Amino acid sequence: MERSRDQGERFDDAKGLTVALRELGVVTPPPSLVPGVLVGTGLADGYWPEETAIGRVFVAYGAAGVVAVQHEEAASAFDAWFRGRFGRRAVAAPPRATLARSVRARLAGERAAPPPFDLRAVRPFQRAVLEAAATIPRGEVRPYAWIAREIGRPGAVRAVGTALAHNPVPLLMPCHRVVRADGRLGEYVFGTGAKRALLTAEGVDIAGIEQRGRTGQPLSGSDTTRIFCYPTCRHARRTAPEHLVRFASAPVARAAGYRPCLVCRPVEAG
Ligand SMILES: [Zn+2]
Repeated sequence: MERSRDQGERFDDAKGLTVALRELGVVTPPPSLVPGVLVGTGLADGYWPEETAIGRVFVAYGAAGVVAVQHEEAASAFDAWFRGRFGRRAVAAPPRATLARSVRARLAGERAAPPPFDLRAVRPFQRAVLEAAATIPRGEVRPYAWIAREIGRPGAVRAVGTALAHNPVPLLMPCHRVVRADGRLGEYVFGTGAKRALLTAEGVDIAGIEQRGRTGQPLSGSDTTRIFCYPTCRHARRTAPEHLVRFASAPVARAAGYRPCLVCRPVEAG
């Protein structure tokens, strides 16, 4: 009898503990708990607002680094967006000074190292796409097919477009530098208007790219070096107008005796 009651009590204790532990996951932390503690203990991600060339964005971060960048005017809208996308909460909390500095430098277009990211929610294919996009220098653009070729999936052009359209960290991972092969800008996670504004701020000659797309001559060559490039490649931009030639495609350029630039590596098709 004695023994069985003892076991029963232990069972109740264990059950109580299980319930308590389970509730820890759903309980709303008291407002007195400093947001920084929530973030530091991993109970929530933190976020803070930044003003950018395209308006206000909110930057969310966890213990490992930046989780998301989203274009919203109000914190309440960002809260709702974050919860819907990641299934967890974020709280308004200033980041460490080093993280804020590194994010601001990238947003301002300085040639700074990227901030640390926390891309747990990103699948390997999308991560490869984002990392390839991050290698495109400021002020230059590449077609979707270029990213597909760079990551060793030349047939996955549409999937590349989808992966870029769902980039959780736009601006910091520059998906806006990937455009259509026909000279049109293509979609952007914050809208085509924002894409145009960002590329213009970086000095990209959008009108020139659109015109080349319309006339079907997306590649540039130099008749002195006999090398062909994407027109925004820094080598192509150094070519004097009188030495500039235009090509419809890489095979056409090769047939004319030109070889591809080793820096911008134009794709064979598209
Ligand atoms: Zn080049």
